[in-house]
Amino acid sequence: MKSNAAPPRRVTVLGSTGSIGVNTADLLAGDRDAYAVEALVGHRNIERLAAQAKDLKAKFAVTADESQYRALKDALSGSGIEVAAGAEAVLEAARRPADWVMAAIVGAAGLAPTLEAVRRGVHVALANKEVMVCAGDLVTAEAKKHGATMLPVDSEHNAIFQVFNDSQRKAIEKIVLTASGGPFRKTSIEEMASKTPAQAVAHPNWSMGAKISVDSATMMNKGLEVIEAHHLFALGSDQLDVVVHPQSVIHGLVYYTDGSVLAQLGSPDMRTPIANTLGWPNRIPAPSARLDLGKIAQLTFEAPDPIRFPALRIAREALIAGGGAPTVLNAANEIAVAAFLDHRIGFLDIAATVERTLERLPNRQIATLEDVYALDDEARVTARSLIGEETRHAARA
Ligand code: NAD
Ligand code: MG
Repeated sequence: MKSNAAPPRRVTVLGSTGSIGVNTADLLAGDRDAYAVEALVGHRNIERLAAQAKDLKAKFAVTADESQYRALKDALSGSGIEVAAGAEAVLEAARRPADWVMAAIVGAAGLAPTLEAVRRGVHVALANKEVMVCAGDLVTAEAKKHGATMLPVDSEHNAIFQVFNDSQRKAIEKIVLTASGGPFRKTSIEEMASKTPAQAVAHPNWSMGAKISVDSATMMNKGLEVIEAHHLFALGSDQLDVVVHPQSVIHGLVYYTDGSVLAQLGSPDMRTPIANTLGWPNRIPAPSARLDLGKIAQLTFEAPDPIRFPALRIAREALIAGGGAPTVLNAANEIAVAAFLDHRIGFLDIAATVERTLERLPNRQIATLEDVYALDDEARVTARSLIGEETRHAARA
């Protein structure tokens, strides 16, 4: 598609080397005249970051890892692309003039750069759900203050965003997020106990980064998404439902008071929701496979199992508790998932660590970003010490 006389849209991708970042780069490369890439931010995959920067003719390439500065500089020497490294450089990338910023860093590490983009009052495509879980009220308030438009990338939230008629908010009863159920949907709790990182990241429908893949296996991902939806759509916990739908064809639904239910469907390919945010308020083409409902034949639904997937309950309780509980939940989960990926704790210990961290830390209110960082730090220290205990117990057993 050629975009005749319109000036190119300036875009920045935070987390360009990850799963969402690569899908975003694919869409940008599909219509090179339409976009001017301002900045790309990655972390340790320097080869990919450099290749993307050259391919998309980015003006500025940043690695969050200071020790990788030289490697990135060498990889881009002679290209004319400006290079920088470290946390301050990541913030600078987020601050640079762009009309659309993809927030696709994983975890609370994305909070500060996402806020920088939000404060520029631009279109912020939000993939990084942990940002909303750990600081949703603050991010929402900043977006309002600076006139930023938050465009949900998470497939469920993007689906709901497409069928959520904000001007008829009073007529909305509830929304439903679908969940694939992950790789252990039918696995017994006894079998889950010995599941390995490799088994947990092998998602049946979606190809994603390691952290979100483990979150999908524990269903913490859906818990984080319930909290994310609370902030994005300003709905209470009682208006946020989850249903397991193994085919991942229907991504989200909105129930209206007249009994109508509006849903968005699509093949499980993140390029569709990303394209929705990139084109918004218009639509742009995406190369995702088209749905063939005849071939799919059956769409099935089931309630999530609260016994085998306690993470969903724990996240919902944190949402209801409010204050800093979701911040603690998110930080403890990041630590526990990293420990599981590192073979230091078992699969079932992930949710248990999160729950015990929440029990250990008294809930408190969060008024500022400093409050978020202090509580996030404290929760990480607590979760790490709980994991230390776990590991010692295991070593003694
Ligand atoms: P990923 O692990 O594949 O990529 C993460 C990106 O963040 C990489 O570019 C990495 O370089 C960067 N990064 C990591 N640590 C960083 C740090 N400290 N500072 C700066 N950059 C850092 O993850 P992903 O699957 O692309 O997910 C990204 C975000 O999008 C997550 O919050 C995830 O929950 C969300 N999301 C992903 C999908 C998906 O299909 N992958 C779907 C919905 C939501
Ligand atoms: Mg999702």
